[in-house]
Parts: sequence; C-alpha cells; structure tokens
Amino acid sequence: MSKYRKDNVFNKILHNEIPYDFVAENEFALAFRDIDPKANVHVLVIPKGEFSTFYDFHSTANSMQIVGFYSLINEVISSMKLVQTGFKLVSRAGSNGGQEVLHFHVHILGGENVADMP
Ligand code: AMP
Repeated sequence: MSKYRKDNVFNKILHNEIPYDFVAENEFALAFRDIDPKANVHVLVIPKGEFSTFYDFHSTANSMQIVGFYSLINEVISSMKLVQTGFKLVSRAGSNGGQEVLHFHVHILGGENVADMP
C-alpha cells in the first residue's frame, strides 16, 4: 500500500486551497477539468478520501465510496454527451504506470477520437 501524502495537488483541490474547473460532485467524489487537456473532453474524477492509487482505493474504500465514485464517472460521461460517440478511461498507478499526482484519479477522455492517444 502506498503512503498517502497530503501535500499533493488534488488534495489541495479537495480542500479548496487552489482554484479548479469544477464539473460535478457527489458525496464521495469530485470531477474537474484537467489543467492540461489531452482531448476536447478531459475530466478527472477523484474520490473524496485519502487514496493514493487504484489499488489503495479498491483495497481500503468501503462499498458506498466505490459506488459513489463510479456513479460520478458515469454521470460525467452522460453530461459530457460521450455515451454515443465513445470515450476512454485511464488510471495510472505508481512509477511504472507514470502516475504524476499521488491521489487516485480516473481520466475521462473523449469529444474526439482518442483511440490511439497514449
Ligand atoms: P497522472 O499522470 O495520471 O497522475 O495525471 C495527472 C493529471 O493531473 C495530468 O493530466 C495533469 O495535467 C493534471 N493536473 C495537474 N495539476 C492539475 C490542476 N491543478 N488542476 C487540474 N488538473 C491538474
């Protein structure tokens, strides 16, 4: 299990310490636009809790936190009108996965063809 570091940028967003481009939220998760978008639609969804990676989240979150998190992803996919045209979900973990921000997050990419996007 990775040790959670509170000084990461997404934890600052969660605590309203820095500005961000709000998209949606529920009790368990927050969605906002990526500051350096790689596609026409590039939204990040983060859980409202201290989880470093995909593995940490799914090992320690309770079922309500997990359902709440994926419900918000689904809500954003719908509100961004990605259901018909398609989209890609990405979650990088750890150094081999290339994760830059050590607060678990899922990228939602779409609004154009993202099939071959690395
Ligand atoms: P990853 O490499 O999967 O950890 O992705 C981190 C993502 O966070 C990158 O796509 C960054 O552009 C994005 N990012 C970093 N800082 C911010 C910020 N302050 N607001 C929104 N997105 C950010």
